[in-house]
Amino acid sequence: MRTRFFNARILTMEPDREIFVGEVWVVKDEIIFVGTEEEGRSYCNDHPDQILIWDREIDCKKNLLMPGFKNAHTHSAMTLMRSKADDLPLSDWLNTQIFPIEAKMTGEDIYHLSKIAILEYLSSGITAAFEMYLTPFTVADSFRDCGFRCVQTSCVNNFSQSVELLEKYYTDINGKDEFNSFILGVHAEYTCSKELLEECAKLTHKYKAPFWAHIQETESETKECIERYGMTPIEFFDSLGLFDYGGGGYHLVWTNDHDREIMKKRGLYVVTNPGSNLKLASGIAPIKEYLEAGIPVAIGTDGPASNNCLDMFREMFLVTGLAKVKNMDASSVDAKEVLKMATVNGAKAMGLNDCDVLAPGKKADIIMLDLMRPNMQPINNIEKNIVYSGSKENVIMTMIGGVIRYENGKFNIGEDIDAIYAKAEEIKARLYS
Ligand SMILES: [Zn+2]
Repeated sequence: MRTRFFNARILTMEPDREIFVGEVWVVKDEIIFVGTEEEGRSYCNDHPDQILIWDREIDCKKNLLMPGFKNAHTHSAMTLMRSKADDLPLSDWLNTQIFPIEAKMTGEDIYHLSKIAILEYLSSGITAAFEMYLTPFTVADSFRDCGFRCVQTSCVNNFSQSVELLEKYYTDINGKDEFNSFILGVHAEYTCSKELLEECAKLTHKYKAPFWAHIQETESETKECIERYGMTPIEFFDSLGLFDYGGGGYHLVWTNDHDREIMKKRGLYVVTNPGSNLKLASGIAPIKEYLEAGIPVAIGTDGPASNNCLDMFREMFLVTGLAKVKNMDASSVDAKEVLKMATVNGAKAMGLNDCDVLAPGKKADIIMLDLMRPNMQPINNIEKNIVYSGSKENVIMTMIGGVIRYENGKFNIGEDIDAIYAKAEEIKARLYS
């Protein structure tokens, strides 16, 4: 498939490159050209051997092309529990509403339920998800079948999965197809024994691989770890050698200066999940402190039972809004920085180094935002508009690996969406009976 986008405003997300009007050319799954119309003519003169016949030419009507958002932390199949478990204390939420239902879910259920999340990602301009759930093989099948990019980590803990399985996921999912990859990780310190974590550390060393987990999401989790080991989870994981090859953590709401020193030294990423942290009353992450310490921040929605929507526009607004109120400083965390978190930093955290910006040689993971909606008018500053007034209603096209998977409200994932919804209702009826 060869697609030419023309007459577009283009935000490449490369450092110091302003928005300009021009074209993006896609051949197969790759971007081959990004530039002005005039630069496009020069490109053709310089490449006389390259015959460019387009399957489709799209007049973008001065709407915006930019890299897709990267949802850097989620549990997709928890769509099942959306709005079934709300307004409860975190421990009740987990122990009475989430764990009993999860215990009944099969791999096949997870395959189908993940697809509802994938539809929501597409309509929210998300082109890749950093996923953690119970059955990585069926999750990988679901994402591959929908043509959606997925990086998984494991939720291994004392009660489910195992270090042997973790290694099997790592070796079997990586390199199997173009949409899926797998990174080493565990659920969290408070659900894993020291022995299990030591075994994981051996794996990170064997594969010289980064390591991820839910870390310091709540104050009590952090305090309990200090009581157990005399260290915060970050300090404890680091003492076991788990971060010797980098990685990062989801949430990281309750960190101190020493945690941040370790994070900086080990090159760790923070994935912040402001919607989930608000709804579960976990706290407000110290985003300004991370930025000041030079620690890269990416953004995730967390799962649809704790958020409950998978919408990067809402998360972006919350990242900057909460930082402003936490610091009582309206200049905290600039919108442009937030946009970088939602795209470039997410891609790097997930190891998707060829999905970060729009440039030749990068994967064609591109979205188009409609600027001709009232919430984008007048066009004073597009980047600020995206973060402060943008919403899903502005997403008119989502392309992943050169294939348009969502366009003007219609999905193209090889399956009828009514069938996906019906399947979810069927699973819901069975598991909640
Ligand atoms: Zn999570």
